[in-house]
Amino acid sequence: MPDTLKLLLHNLQLLVLKIVMKLVSAGQPLLFSGPGSSLRMCRAMADLGARKVLIVTDAVLVKLGLIGPLREALEAHGVACTVYDGVEPDPTHRQIEAGVALARRDGCDAVLAVGGGSPMDAAKIIAACVANTAAVSDLVGNFKVKLAPLPIYAIPTTAGTGSEVTVVAVVTDTAAQAKTPVVDGKLVPLMAALDAALMTGLPPHISAATGMDALTHAVESYLSRFANDSTMRLSLAAAKLVFANLARVCEHGEDLEARQAMAMASTYAGLAFSRASVGYVHAIAHNLGGIYHTPHGLANAIVLPHILDFSRDAAAARLADLALAIGAGTRSESAAVLAERFIAKVRELALRIGIPEKLDTLRAADVPLIARRALDEAQGFYPVPRFMNQSECEAVLRKLLP
Ligand code: NAD
Repeated sequence: MPDTLKLLLHNLQLLVLKIVMKLVSAGQPLLFSGPGSSLRMCRAMADLGARKVLIVTDAVLVKLGLIGPLREALEAHGVACTVYDGVEPDPTHRQIEAGVALARRDGCDAVLAVGGGSPMDAAKIIAACVANTAAVSDLVGNFKVKLAPLPIYAIPTTAGTGSEVTVVAVVTDTAAQAKTPVVDGKLVPLMAALDAALMTGLPPHISAATGMDALTHAVESYLSRFANDSTMRLSLAAAKLVFANLARVCEHGEDLEARQAMAMASTYAGLAFSRASVGYVHAIAHNLGGIYHTPHGLANAIVLPHILDFSRDAAAARLADLALAIGAGTRSESAAVLAERFIAKVRELALRIGIPEKLDTLRAADVPLIARRALDEAQGFYPVPRFMNQSECEAVLRKLLP
């Protein structure tokens, strides 16, 4: 199909999507915030009637001792627990189905996610599969969750994905080497606790990558054609918090104040992109993740400055707002200068926290396929400020080759 026709179709599809998104409501979780808030949420879960909870997490977090105190708190309030710690980064159908089987076996009436985006996404899909007697593959796509999932509670242990507040859960299709989304307003957790005390042991490289994920959500949602006053406020707040705190948490992991600020940034950005969506950075990052298993935040971090270069003229005014929000210029300067400065600040932050400029696993022979898949993912779905064609996407990818 010629590019002009693709662009026309893209704009028409976005128009329809915008109307659908206005009609479909998505709630917002009740948020508990601050060190110790995860234990307070355990109490609230009991108050809300949870009696048998499936705790969805990963083996690293069990080993680090993060799960024990939560389990004890739930049990002290009369809530029985089954722990499923079989989730790995970028959860697969098989891992999620195993969690579904455990929840069914033990008759769980609620799901508590403890972890980064991987356990949170797995938990959201497990809760939906159990309530709908569905297989994971039945729910992949948009608005396929018919009945309300089991009540979902979330305790993020990374500050990046924002999954604790979003309408999305990502599952990896191993056979297709693709990351596929389950999108539905019903996936938003009932409650979430942003507890920085659980994040102080996050190693610097994971803090860096996940923090850049939050920044990417903030930036792509701010540049989105679906952005509104409310999402834009959240995106700006998130960007400001990331620039003020991300290097601090990478260099001083135990800094509770900076960790809490990053947790807030991640949640603000999640709320913003859950409504305003994302863009080409995500489209490319998902496909790098599907093929090479590149951690999501790292892929976003490497791609982000290149997509900002590509969108610079089309999105100059909004990039200028972002520059002003992070204190990288003054109102007397032109939008073009401020936009350039914001992109330079993104590169400077990435460099400071050790994000590489190249993706060492990327193979030149895969570039056309990754570009095609990324553009297919974005087509009619991501409200990007500037439309990209196959050769432009390939050119961006080639800049990442080692
Ligand atoms: P992750 O959950 O995959 O975790 C990465 C690693 O960090 C794991 O080894 C984990 O054990 C470790 N870890 C997590 N918390 C820790 C802690 N406090 N201390 C020490 N180690 C810790 O990483 P992530 O980046 O949070 O999540 C990535 C996944 O989330 C991807 O699959 C991505 O596609 C998805 N995602 C979902 C959404 C959404 O809205 N649903 C948004 C963005 C990304």
